[in-house]
Amino acid sequence: MSYQTINPLTDEVVKTYDNHDDAYVEEALSRGHALYKKWRNDPIDSRSEALSHVADLIALKADELAKILTIEMGKRLVEAKGEVAITVAIARYYAKHGAEFLKPRDIVSSIGPAQIISRPTGVLLMVEPWNFPYYQIMRVFAPNYVAGNPMVLKHASNTPMAAEAFEKIVQEAGLPDGSLTNLFINYDQVNKIIGDDRVQGVALTGSERAGQLVAAEAGKNMKQSSLELGGSDPFVILDDADLSEIKKIISGARLYNAGQVCTSSKRFIVTEKNYDKIVDMLQTAFSGVKLGDPMQPETTLAPLSTSKAKQNLTKQVREAVEAGATLSFGSVEQTQPAALFEPVILTGITKENPAFYQEFFGPVGEVFKVKDEAEAIALANDSHYGLSGIVFGGDADHAAEVASKIETGVVFVNSFGGTLPELPFGGVKNSGYGRELGDLGIDTFVNKQTIVTK
Ligand code: NDP
Repeated sequence: MSYQTINPLTDEVVKTYDNHDDAYVEEALSRGHALYKKWRNDPIDSRSEALSHVADLIALKADELAKILTIEMGKRLVEAKGEVAITVAIARYYAKHGAEFLKPRDIVSSIGPAQIISRPTGVLLMVEPWNFPYYQIMRVFAPNYVAGNPMVLKHASNTPMAAEAFEKIVQEAGLPDGSLTNLFINYDQVNKIIGDDRVQGVALTGSERAGQLVAAEAGKNMKQSSLELGGSDPFVILDDADLSEIKKIISGARLYNAGQVCTSSKRFIVTEKNYDKIVDMLQTAFSGVKLGDPMQPETTLAPLSTSKAKQNLTKQVREAVEAGATLSFGSVEQTQPAALFEPVILTGITKENPAFYQEFFGPVGEVFKVKDEAEAIALANDSHYGLSGIVFGGDADHAAEVASKIETGVVFVNSFGGTLPELPFGGVKNSGYGRELGDLGIDTFVNKQTIVTK
């Protein structure tokens, strides 16, 4: 496996990195472990200020950092700047609130007064994907840095520049050696790290397959794990939904980050009354996009992350159509160069079609017609995934009630959704387990130790 930056707009190889050997990994773990032992004795809030420095430095270098994303995984520059901004916001959030989330909690017990205190557990491994290279790291790094868990990072092999840049920021911000070490390593080395006694947990964001393999290794070694995997998120549109509001967000809900978002709306589930209007709205939105160079401000749809991702998505669309789906927009053949992918809308996907249960990680919208609300909820839940969803309805309270019946970790009512530092994020079913962000996101790898005094 090689870590390589390939510009998805052109398929040009920009930079190739050498892998780190086992000795390098050993040094990283031993530095991390030494730091863990020190951090165990430091007050929790001693790290909060340093995290603010990380945020400041990222904000200062926002333009440079954003460009790396655009070159490396093809994100539109404006979206890359947005990613940098949310990355900064997460760091600031945990710098401000992290220590307070970990404050001791008093309990009265029949033995005597008790307290639940939060203790770090040790070095953590994070395995991260290419779709939001900085944001994904920060979701794990910020809370765990405050909690006192040093980290090693195995980033996606197609985003090594982003991984390197993040590590450098942490160093330049003056955080101690071993706080976060980036490793260019293969899967065997990942497994060895998980099995190492100094390592106490692994957080992975990525595909179901990667999640299964890494979590199995963690289970074998009795290590804590958290998984944030894919999603085939429903966008439920009820009879009384305000279509003018939907019109404002429908394109972004599916096409943001070239549709490569675990929480993109992948399945539009529409009652009969609005079905034709929504198909029409999506067609208009998709026909209005300008596919092209993500550095250029007029581009509204960027290439996919790699040409391989394009091949896979093209194959999925072809198979869906061969199995009877209707191409309501776009075509099976993708004629644009490199990883540029023209958007597609699929309708008429039956339960027998393999596409029904698949995740389309790119600009492919699926629209389903349902009889009524009950059928909409049933279809939304007929998925192996359960990450997030959107419900639009004219009566917000009723729409929220519908939202509570949808089996996902997050549901947004009458809004586009997105991610915010204060909103816990994570899924159920094959979308994984555990929560990142918010107050819940700091607890995963913390030892909630109960101290009882007689
Ligand atoms: P992967 O799951 O393969 O990659 C995510 C991360 O996991 C990368 O760092 C990858 O490393 C690593 N990884 C993969 N397999 C293993 C393994 N056996 N042991 C250790 N680390 C591993 O995702 P892909 O890039 O292949 O994307 C495929 C699909 O994954 C998408 O279509 C989408 O469904 C889902 N996905 C979901 C994301 C989300 O945000 N939830 C983000 C990205 C993808 P390496 O790059 O070296 O293979």
